[in-house]
Amino acid sequence: MYLGTEYKNSELFLLGFDRLVGTPWTSIENAHRNFMGDDVSTTLVYVKALLDEQCRIVAAEPPAMQHTSSCRDCEGCAEDWRAIWWNGMGRLLLDARNPQPFEEAFQCFQCLEFGRVGEDCKRGMLTHVMAINVPALHAQNFIDNVCGRLIKKLKLQ
Ligand SMILES: [Zn+2]
Repeated sequence: MYLGTEYKNSELFLLGFDRLVGTPWTSIENAHRNFMGDDVSTTLVYVKALLDEQCRIVAAEPPAMQHTSSCRDCEGCAEDWRAIWWNGMGRLLLDARNPQPFEEAFQCFQCLEFGRVGEDCKRGMLTHVMAINVPALHAQNFIDNVCGRLIKKLKLQ
């Protein structure tokens, strides 16, 4: 990001900003925060906070099961769906040591054992999850847009 600012290179700046979004705030040294300046560090804090909040909402709120007509055990199906969501998406998204971005977490989630979840219910829910989690899927667009505004504000183009 330093090189991006120093040489007014917006692509380098975007790469640096993107990397910092994925870096825990406590791992960013004070000297680096001072170096970023108030505009960048404040924006970074807000972006990270919004993405973290979105991530916790997705992880902790299993989408309500929408059964299909072929479902034979609706109660067991819904119960296992909630358990698998929490133990799958919840754990993958919120893992403190190795948190996964939504797309990667969802790919792993689809490969898990779904217990009593009916095959058609599972297929329908996986499609439904993609439809209702558009914000999580577009996190990169959000970062790019915010960073684009910063680039204009800092006149890096
Ligand atoms: Zn079902």
